[in-house]
Amino acid sequence: MLLHKFSGTLAVLAITGGLLSQPLKAENILSEEIRATALELKETALDAGLAYELDESLSTEVGARRVGTPGDKKGVEWAVAKMKALGFDKVWTEEVTHVLWERGEIEAEVTGPYPHTMTAIALGGSVGSPKKGIEAEVVEFENFAALEAAAPGSLDGKIAYVSYRMERKVDGSGYGPAVIARGKGALVAEQKGAVAFIMRSVGTDNNRLAHTGSMNTDDGIPGIAAAALSNPDADILSNLIRRGKPVTFKLKQSSRRHDKKVVKTANVIGEVTGRESPEDYVILGSHLDSWDVGTGAVDDGIGVTITMAAGKHILDLPQRPKRSVRVVLFGAEEVGLVGVEQYLEAHKDELDHHVIGAEWDFGVGRIYDMKPGVGPEALNVIREMAELFAPMGVSLNPANDAKGQSDLSLLGDAGMPAVNFSPDGSLYFDYHHTDNDTFDKVDPEAMKFNTAIYTMFTWIAAESGVDFRK
Ligand code: ZN
Ligand code: ZN
Repeated sequence: MLLHKFSGTLAVLAITGGLLSQPLKAENILSEEIRATALELKETALDAGLAYELDESLSTEVGARRVGTPGDKKGVEWAVAKMKALGFDKVWTEEVTHVLWERGEIEAEVTGPYPHTMTAIALGGSVGSPKKGIEAEVVEFENFAALEAAAPGSLDGKIAYVSYRMERKVDGSGYGPAVIARGKGALVAEQKGAVAFIMRSVGTDNNRLAHTGSMNTDDGIPGIAAAALSNPDADILSNLIRRGKPVTFKLKQSSRRHDKKVVKTANVIGEVTGRESPEDYVILGSHLDSWDVGTGAVDDGIGVTITMAAGKHILDLPQRPKRSVRVVLFGAEEVGLVGVEQYLEAHKDELDHHVIGAEWDFGVGRIYDMKPGVGPEALNVIREMAELFAPMGVSLNPANDAKGQSDLSLLGDAGMPAVNFSPDGSLYFDYHHTDNDTFDKVDPEAMKFNTAIYTMFTWIAAESGVDFRK
């Protein structure tokens, strides 16, 4: 609905806080020209299908891009070459460093009382098992909190197993309660005496494919081998444990962490240089690195290519927008937002000039919700933007507390205004961090639709000159 036409409800809305409590205006702030160009850009993006084409190129010609691997380096080269070919006014890289991690090989099996070979994958950052593998009794915990509550020493010589299953939710909110075990499970299990840590994959599918992803590490703690089982394998293991007899498990894993060996990657930045205040930037974020399984077509090939395509459609306008647009493809996101941390450090003196940002790092479906995180002065423009998106089925979230997603969350924490666009994420965690993250999962129509919205948002933010600061 068009909020400003319902002024009679204001007194009621005022007490709800956030966006709805702000005074409403009588006239449009965005000029007719800005609106008309936004609608033209929408048609251009819907016709072009450029993001889909770019993602086909990235996932076919480069593929997996785990930080520090040859694929990661090729990804950086691909992005620089593509951005130049698309005609970005400036294209550059900023070095990002991380430590070397080798996945190695993995063999996982239930050895008794009923043997089963298990499909498992090492968690990113994990150390290996002893060379011959480690065999021990499994102790199951229904979730991370239960593992945390285990008494010190109660897991001596045991393999700790967290069997919590992630819930499928349209907004991806099932991820947080599940991923905590991936992050902290191994460290906590080790403190309680465990010799290895296994968990049900953080994923919503029933494929016999395990989901990788990074785990927390601690320099002062040697570490134990940590791996995720596919959902069907986790079911088998839990069913065995439910029978009441001790279940033994063998994990042989040759992952290696090299805390002193530095690997280099980069943030890749493409700029559309503004015509009036080029030192002010609208930021479009995504991450260029991926895991080493799959081809990273979804995570985050979709974000990389939607934001590049949005930049290209703006470059094709007869003149540049007032402000600059920076398309930032962050490196080393998967291993803990490392690229954006180094970006923040490198750009700390110009953070005030990051006028607003939006990231894509989630979902294969269409955007259905837009949530701002801006100052009160900017809310009317956000409403006008939302009016342009409303016919596309995108609602305006009444909360005004967006801080930026994924990489951009750190810039949001540092004060940058943001808009979070939420796509339908129902299917995302079927593929996330697995061999199944491949280009066939990318929906060409959703790519056009989402690119249209990112392009319109970027145009309005860069051309309107509105101060979005809080
Ligand atoms: Zn991602
Ligand atoms: Zn990821």
